[in-house]
Amino acid sequence: MDKFPLVVASRDFHPGDTVHFKKWPPHCVEGTRGAEFHPELNLDKVDREVVKGTGNRDDGYSAFEATNVGLTGFLKEKGVTEVYVTGLTTEYCVKETAIDAASKGFSTYVVTDAIQGVRQNPGDEEKALEEMKQSGVKLTTSKKIQV
Ligand SMILES: [Zn+2]
Repeated sequence: MDKFPLVVASRDFHPGDTVHFKKWPPHCVEGTRGAEFHPELNLDKVDREVVKGTGNRDDGYSAFEATNVGLTGFLKEKGVTEVYVTGLTTEYCVKETAIDAASKGFSTYVVTDAIQGVRQNPGDEEKALEEMKQSGVKLTTSKKIQV
Protein backbone atom coordinates (compact mmCIF):
# COMPACT_ATOMS: atom_id res chain seq x y z
CA MET A 1 0.00 0.00 0.00
CA ASP A 2 3.00 2.29 0.60
CA LYS A 3 3.72 2.29 -3.12
CA PHE A 4 0.41 3.84 -4.12
CA PRO A 5 -1.01 7.34 -3.81
CA LEU A 6 -4.56 6.01 -3.51
CA VAL A 7 -5.77 2.77 -1.93
CA VAL A 8 -9.29 1.39 -2.17
CA ALA A 9 -10.27 -1.64 -0.07
CA SER A 10 -13.35 -3.61 -1.03
CA ARG A 11 -15.17 -6.23 0.93
CA ASP A 12 -18.19 -8.46 0.60
CA PHE A 13 -21.02 -7.30 2.84
CA HIS A 14 -23.82 -9.78 2.28
CA PRO A 15 -27.28 -9.93 3.79
CA GLY A 16 -28.01 -13.14 5.68
CA ASP A 17 -30.33 -14.29 2.92
CA THR A 18 -29.03 -13.93 -0.63
CA VAL A 19 -28.99 -15.91 -3.86
CA HIS A 20 -25.20 -15.76 -3.51
CA PHE A 21 -25.39 -18.35 -0.72
CA LYS A 22 -26.96 -20.87 -3.11
CA LYS A 23 -23.49 -21.02 -4.72
CA TRP A 24 -21.31 -20.41 -1.67
CA PRO A 25 -21.30 -21.22 2.01
CA PRO A 26 -22.45 -18.16 3.96
CA HIS A 27 -19.60 -15.65 4.39
CA CYS A 28 -19.06 -11.95 5.03
CA VAL A 29 -22.55 -11.46 6.43
CA GLU A 30 -23.20 -7.84 7.40
CA GLY A 31 -22.76 -7.20 11.09
CA THR A 32 -20.63 -10.31 11.69
CA ARG A 33 -16.88 -10.72 12.13
CA GLY A 34 -16.70 -12.30 8.70
CA ALA A 35 -17.67 -9.02 7.06
CA GLU A 36 -14.85 -7.10 8.75
CA PHE A 37 -11.51 -6.45 7.12
CA HIS A 38 -8.68 -8.69 8.27
CA PRO A 39 -7.31 -7.28 11.53
CA GLU A 40 -3.81 -7.04 10.05
CA LEU A 41 -4.93 -4.85 7.17
CA ASN A 42 -3.72 -1.33 7.96
CA LEU A 43 -6.86 0.69 7.38
CA ASP A 44 -4.94 3.94 8.04
CA LYS A 45 -3.54 3.50 4.55
CA VAL A 46 -6.91 2.95 2.95
CA ASP A 47 -8.42 6.04 1.32
CA ARG A 48 -11.79 4.53 0.50
CA GLU A 49 -13.61 1.47 1.73
CA VAL A 50 -16.21 -0.01 -0.56
CA VAL A 51 -18.80 -2.69 0.08
CA LYS A 52 -20.30 -5.03 -2.49
CA GLY A 53 -22.76 -7.88 -2.65
CA THR A 54 -25.00 -5.92 -0.29
CA GLY A 55 -28.20 -6.90 -2.09
CA ASN A 56 -29.82 -10.32 -2.09
CA ARG A 57 -30.00 -10.80 -5.85
CA ASP A 58 -26.41 -10.65 -7.04
CA ASP A 59 -22.93 -11.91 -6.30
CA GLY A 60 -21.11 -8.61 -6.21
CA TYR A 61 -17.78 -10.09 -7.21
CA SER A 62 -16.36 -6.92 -8.75
CA ALA A 63 -15.35 -3.91 -6.66
CA PHE A 64 -16.92 -1.89 -9.47
CA GLU A 65 -20.27 -3.26 -8.25
CA ALA A 66 -19.76 -1.41 -4.96
CA THR A 67 -23.02 -0.09 -3.62
CA ASN A 68 -21.69 2.70 -1.38
CA VAL A 69 -19.73 4.54 -4.07
CA GLY A 70 -19.63 4.73 -7.86
CA LEU A 71 -16.11 3.38 -8.08
CA THR A 72 -15.42 4.31 -11.70
CA GLY A 73 -16.42 7.94 -11.11
CA PHE A 74 -14.51 8.07 -7.83
CA LEU A 75 -11.29 6.84 -9.45
CA LYS A 76 -11.63 9.13 -12.47
CA GLU A 77 -12.27 12.15 -10.21
CA LYS A 78 -9.03 11.33 -8.41
CA GLY A 79 -7.16 11.24 -11.73
CA VAL A 80 -6.46 7.52 -11.54
CA THR A 81 -5.30 5.98 -14.82
CA GLU A 82 -3.70 2.77 -13.51
CA VAL A 83 -5.32 0.19 -11.24
CA TYR A 84 -3.47 -2.58 -9.41
CA VAL A 85 -5.67 -5.40 -8.11
CA THR A 86 -4.74 -7.66 -5.18
CA GLY A 87 -6.63 -9.86 -2.72
CA LEU A 88 -9.21 -12.63 -2.81
CA THR A 89 -10.14 -14.52 -4.82
CA THR A 90 -8.32 -14.96 -8.10
CA GLU A 91 -11.17 -16.69 -9.95
CA TYR A 92 -13.97 -14.41 -8.76
CA CYS A 93 -13.51 -11.01 -7.13
CA VAL A 94 -9.98 -10.37 -8.41
CA LYS A 95 -10.87 -11.50 -11.93
CA GLU A 96 -14.13 -9.57 -12.17
CA THR A 97 -12.63 -6.42 -10.65
CA ALA A 98 -9.63 -6.51 -12.98
CA ILE A 99 -11.70 -7.16 -16.09
CA ASP A 100 -14.11 -4.37 -15.12
CA ALA A 101 -11.22 -1.97 -14.50
CA ALA A 102 -9.71 -2.74 -17.90
CA SER A 103 -13.06 -2.41 -19.65
CA LYS A 104 -13.55 1.01 -18.05
CA GLY A 105 -10.31 2.25 -19.57
CA PHE A 106 -7.91 1.88 -16.66
CA SER A 107 -4.50 0.43 -17.35
CA THR A 108 -4.95 -2.63 -15.16
CA TYR A 109 -2.47 -4.90 -13.39
CA VAL A 110 -3.03 -7.94 -11.21
CA VAL A 111 -0.30 -8.49 -8.64
CA THR A 112 0.11 -12.25 -8.87
CA ASP A 113 1.98 -12.73 -5.58
CA ALA A 114 -0.75 -10.81 -3.73
CA ILE A 115 -3.78 -12.83 -4.79
CA GLN A 116 -5.17 -16.21 -3.80
CA GLY A 117 -7.61 -18.52 -5.50
CA VAL A 118 -10.50 -20.61 -4.18
CA ARG A 119 -9.18 -23.58 -6.17
CA GLN A 120 -12.48 -25.41 -6.47
CA ASN A 121 -11.09 -27.28 -9.46
CA PRO A 122 -7.53 -27.79 -10.61
CA GLY A 123 -6.58 -25.19 -13.20
CA ASP A 124 -9.21 -22.64 -12.18
CA GLU A 125 -6.63 -20.03 -11.24
CA GLU A 126 -4.67 -20.44 -14.45
CA LYS A 127 -7.89 -20.17 -16.43
CA ALA A 128 -8.83 -16.97 -14.58
CA LEU A 129 -5.40 -15.42 -15.18
CA GLU A 130 -5.65 -16.31 -18.86
CA GLU A 131 -9.13 -14.77 -19.07
CA MET A 132 -7.82 -11.59 -17.46
CA LYS A 133 -4.93 -11.41 -19.94
CA GLN A 134 -7.36 -11.88 -22.82
CA SER A 135 -9.28 -8.88 -21.47
CA GLY A 136 -6.22 -6.63 -21.53
CA VAL A 137 -5.18 -7.05 -17.89
CA LYS A 138 -1.43 -7.18 -17.30
CA LEU A 139 0.12 -9.49 -14.74
CA THR A 140 2.88 -8.24 -12.47
CA THR A 141 4.49 -8.97 -9.10
CA SER A 142 4.87 -6.77 -6.04
CA LYS A 143 8.63 -6.54 -6.58
CA LYS A 144 8.17 -5.09 -10.06
CA ILE A 145 5.84 -2.29 -8.99
CA GLN A 146 7.50 1.11 -9.22
CA VAL A 147 5.53 4.21 -8.45
ZN1 LIG B 1 -19.43 -13.18 -1.44
